[in-house]
Amino acid sequence: MALIVQKYGGTSVGNPDRIKNVAARVAKYRAKGDQVVVVVSAMSGVTDNLIKLAKEIMPLPNEREMDMLLATGEQTTIALTAIALHAMDIAAVSLTGAQAGIVTDGVHTKAKIHNITPKRVHELLDKGNVVIVAGFQGETMDGQITTLGRGGSDLTAIALAAALKADLCQIYTDVDGVYTADPRLVPKARKLPEISYDEMLELASLGAKVMQSRSVEFAKKFGVIFEVRSSLNDNPGTIVKEETKSMEDIVVRGVSLDKNQAKVTLVAVPDKPGVSARVFKALGDANVNVDMIVQNISHGSGTPATDLSFTVDKPDLLKAQKVIDGLQKEIGYKETIADEKIGKLSIVGVGMKSHSGVAGKMFETLANEGVNIEMISTSEIKISVVVRLDKGEAAMKAVHAAFLGN
Ligand code: ASP
Ligand code: MG
Repeated sequence: MALIVQKYGGTSVGNPDRIKNVAARVAKYRAKGDQVVVVVSAMSGVTDNLIKLAKEIMPLPNEREMDMLLATGEQTTIALTAIALHAMDIAAVSLTGAQAGIVTDGVHTKAKIHNITPKRVHELLDKGNVVIVAGFQGETMDGQITTLGRGGSDLTAIALAAALKADLCQIYTDVDGVYTADPRLVPKARKLPEISYDEMLELASLGAKVMQSRSVEFAKKFGVIFEVRSSLNDNPGTIVKEETKSMEDIVVRGVSLDKNQAKVTLVAVPDKPGVSARVFKALGDANVNVDMIVQNISHGSGTPATDLSFTVDKPDLLKAQKVIDGLQKEIGYKETIADEKIGKLSIVGVGMKSHSGVAGKMFETLANEGVNIEMISTSEIKISVVVRLDKGEAAMKAVHAAFLGN
C-alpha cells in the first residue's frame, strides 16, 4: 500500500466529464489499496475570470479580497471531485487549504507556506477516505485566507507530499510531461524522460508553463521526487529529481519562451551611488518580482546619467509603474517607458557547465533569423535574451533546431 499525492491542473478538471475522469483514475489506485490525496486547481479559466471580474470594478483591487475571491475557484473543484467519487461509491472528503492544515504567511496573493500540520488528512485517510485538498490556498495563523501565487496548486501538492512523506507524487496536466520546448510552438519538441530540479526550475521560472517555479524549489529543498504526466492517457511522464552525472552529457535540455514579462526602462537616471538600491528596494517592498536588470554606461555631458531597464511579470507592471512614479521627484530620472511587447527566450541545461561556445551559437542563430537581442542574462545553466514578442516564436524554433535538432 502506497500513499500517493496526485495533483490535477485546471484543464484536467475543466468540465464535469474531466472531473469524472479524475475520479476514475483515483478509483484505479484505490482499488489497488493505495491511499490517495488529490490536490485540485480551479477549473480552467475560472481564476482568470475571477481576476477579470475584479478588474472590471477597479484596476488594483485589495489583495486580501483577491484571495477571498480566488480561493473560491479551488473550493468549487474539491466539492465536485468529492461528489464524482461518491457517484462511484468511493468514500471521499474535500478539505480547504486551511482545513488541511496549510499555514502561510500573510503576503496576500503570493503567500509562502510556513508549515503544514496534516493531522486531519491522516485521520480521514486512515478511515478509508480519498482526501481532496484545494490547491493554491492556505490560511494565516490568525485565520485569513491566502493564496500561493498563480499556479500555486503545484506547491500545495509538493508541500503536502513532503509533509505526508508520500511514496509518490504525480502532477497531472494536459501534456505528457516536460518537453524540450512547448510542443504547441515547436512541433519538433520531444518529451524528456527525466530532468533535474535545477533545469526544471529554470524552465518553470522562464515561463515554460509546466509548473510553478516555487513548487520545484520546494521539491528540491525537501527532496520530493515527482512525475509530471498526462491525465488523459497512461503514458509515462517526466521524472523530476536531483541531477545525476549523465545528465551533463546533454548541453541544452530545453528551450522556453516567456511571453508574460514586461520591460520597464528608466531614462536618464542620475549615475550615482544608491539609485539602483532605492529603485529595487522600493519594488521589493511592494512585492514586485524583478527578473532581468540591465544598466547601461553613463552618457550625456554635465551630470552623468544612465538608462536602467528591468523586467517584471506582466500582471505586476501597473504596480511597478506606480512604485517608480512615486520615486521620480526623489531620484530625478527623465521618464519611464513601459513595454509589454517583449518575449524572453531561454536555453537551459546542466551540460552548459562543462561545454563552451553555447552563447555564441545561440546568438549566431538569432542573428541568422534577423532577431535583435534587447537584453541578455546568464546563469551557470541558462542563457536568456529579451526579443520582440512578434519574433519570439520564430526565434524559439530556430534555437531549438540549432541545439536539439529538427
Ligand atoms: N487556480 C490557480 C491559478 O490559475 C492555481 C493553479 O491553478 O494552480 O493560478
Ligand atoms: Mg496550473
